Amino acid sequence: MDNARISVKESMANEMPKPLAHEFYSPSKVYGKHVFSLKIMRERLPKQVFNRLEKAIKTNGSLAEGDADIIASAMKDWAIENGATHYTHWFQPMTGVTAEKHDAFFVPSSSHNDGNLLNEFSGKMLIKGEPDASSFPSGGIRSTFEARGYTAWDPTSPVFLLENSHGKTLYVPSIFISYTGESLDRKTPLLRSNEAVSKQALRILRLFGNTVATNVSPMVGIEQEYFLIDKRYVALRDDLKLCGRSLYGAMSDKGQELEDHYFGTINDRVLSFMAGVEKQMFELGIPAKTRHNEVAPAQFELAPVFEPANLAIDHNMLTMQILRNTAEKHGFFCLLHEKPFAGVNGSGKHNNWSLCDSEGNNLLDPGNTPMDNAQFLVFLAAVLKAVHKHSILLRLATIGSGNDHRLGANEAPPAILSVFLGAPLTSVIDSIINNSEDNSDWQQDVIKIGVTSLPQFPKDVSDRNRTSPFAFTGNKFEFRAVGSSASCAPANIALNTAMASALGEIALMLETAVASGKTLTQAVHDTLVEVFKEHLPVVFNGNGYGEEWQEEAKRRGLPNLKDSVSVLAHYNDPSLMNVLTQNGVLSERELLARQDILLENYIRDIHVEVKLTVSMGRSIILPACLRWLKTAGDLAVNAEKLQGETAASGFEAQYCQKLRTLTAEFYAALNELDEEHIKTDNLSGVLVRAEATRDNLIPRMNACRALADKLEKIVDDSVWPLPKYNEMLW
Ligand code: ADP
Ligand code: MG
Repeated sequence: MDNARISVKESMANEMPKPLAHEFYSPSKVYGKHVFSLKIMRERLPKQVFNRLEKAIKTNGSLAEGDADIIASAMKDWAIENGATHYTHWFQPMTGVTAEKHDAFFVPSSSHNDGNLLNEFSGKMLIKGEPDASSFPSGGIRSTFEARGYTAWDPTSPVFLLENSHGKTLYVPSIFISYTGESLDRKTPLLRSNEAVSKQALRILRLFGNTVATNVSPMVGIEQEYFLIDKRYVALRDDLKLCGRSLYGAMSDKGQELEDHYFGTINDRVLSFMAGVEKQMFELGIPAKTRHNEVAPAQFELAPVFEPANLAIDHNMLTMQILRNTAEKHGFFCLLHEKPFAGVNGSGKHNNWSLCDSEGNNLLDPGNTPMDNAQFLVFLAAVLKAVHKHSILLRLATIGSGNDHRLGANEAPPAILSVFLGAPLTSVIDSIINNSEDNSDWQQDVIKIGVTSLPQFPKDVSDRNRTSPFAFTGNKFEFRAVGSSASCAPANIALNTAMASALGEIALMLETAVASGKTLTQAVHDTLVEVFKEHLPVVFNGNGYGEEWQEEAKRRGLPNLKDSVSVLAHYNDPSLMNVLTQNGVLSERELLARQDILLENYIRDIHVEVKLTVSMGRSIILPACLRWLKTAGDLAVNAEKLQGETAASGFEAQYCQKLRTLTAEFYAALNELDEEHIKTDNLSGVLVRAEATRDNLIPRMNACRALADKLEKIVDDSVWPLPKYNEMLW
């Protein structure tokens, strides 16, 4: 019988795939070519309309209908001149991926359809779309028969053109809300959280005498990790195709132990792929900057320069799409899953985050003057408060069935939320706390916070702690627990909201102290002492992978929620709900709907894996084992005949016995998994089903895999049907 895996292997040995020829281009010439940017709008719109639009973007204001018509018309002309035939509102429902529904720009010129077409795209069409939304998750907010949902243009993210082999489409980044006004997406709460953090940060800036800043924006830089696997192998593995991870597969004989892949020379075929990805990113105005090999074999990373949060997240969603599509063209399959290969490092996304005022000042930069230092320390105190008090909210932002394989598995930060500050900054905090009683030599205007002014914190500290989920890196924080396939919206919604709440509390402390007659200096000092004292337990500079940290974290009272379901069980905690509702980020109704959606997403993901484990096991692996058992059994019988050995002592017979036992165990394990799946499906209550999925299905799925992986190591290589780790990764 032919073995497709062996054929692929042979053809690869005979002709190595060539890198796709790549046209050279100048990044500065193509940059932003497919974006209806402010620059193009300034050229194409009447000055007054442009000014009003720019103002609406800056202040999150709304557009007058007349202006919307003018803008839509200019947009349509630009899009059609550049080859577009269709437009679509582009939104981010709770499915985790983006959604789009294309409409042609053209309509029949008269109701009698005289054969002519007219171009049509009004302000109304730009501002509002009405996709039939009945099939998007709403967590019960809307029943299926109430299909109406609205998409509405988010002018803070510019419209853009996406090219496919059939032409171009105009994409309008949009929010997605129900008929009754509840948000059904991830962009709406993100925009609300941006506003919340801006409002509270401004309160602090005003206290420090800043009267010019008009708003504060979270800035985000997202590092994206991914795997590239030859698509001919993926074609033979439904698990990689459908689930993004291998449900079967013994560890390769060479692992990542040599660490020879990390920052290694990038091979030509991969480089050609990367160049193709970057060109599309540049055209879309996504500032791709860094590319390199990652720790695991076949793993890579890409990072753009940071941008305002909303844009950075839209751009990351687009980047994932570009990675997948471009891989296809280069004969690869791009895996964005958090753990495609057991035993090999998985992929994450580092969400670099800071706050920037409208004058361009980074509020997490320690600065050079004592006053700047003091303001920085207030923001730092707020970060500690935010992460300490709202750690479950932040943990919630990193859940996902894929990320459960990674967090706490000694390759990614643990599930415990702590903050790494590094030794110099931690000692500043210590001295502030310890000198709290000693105010004797305080001067009026200079905050003497244990040190006259802060040392310069190196941006690229050599003792960089990779094991921390939330690390200070000179002038920003790096939230490292996000999964590689996830949208960064939840992470930033959580960060902004937690920070808005912490800043609000600190602003109140300062305002109250000043109102009671204290100088600002004294108020800041007293507040810092109090806040640092309370929240220092969240600071941890040691090894986050160590066993001792788990113990120590428990003593400090830091939650350690190890899997998605345990986190989601805390969803209704009043403190978690309150911080989101009080900051206007999500209403109670929206929140409760989301818990259902997230649990259902988890169950759906794992149940697909379970079904595939069973079907691949029964229809691919088991038959191969049985065929091989038959062949090996025949050989054993022959050997016995030839050598007259007894069945028990001949090694051939022993081998067959082992093969037979493992195969029988595998058969039984598959049956057990299948039966348990049916039981789980019949349970009522979404949390109950999710818990049963975690407790009863995942261990049984792992048991099936462990047996199959043992079989893979002893069954004749030429009959094994699934591409092996050795082949796919190296
Ligand atoms: P690493 O060494 O972890 O790769 P980099 O210095 O290369 O870190 O930066 C990683 C990401 O952080 C990049 O996307 C970068 O643009 C972003 N970044 C840099 N400064 C800031 C900032 N002030 N706010 C948010 N992100 C930032
Ligand atoms: Mg990096």
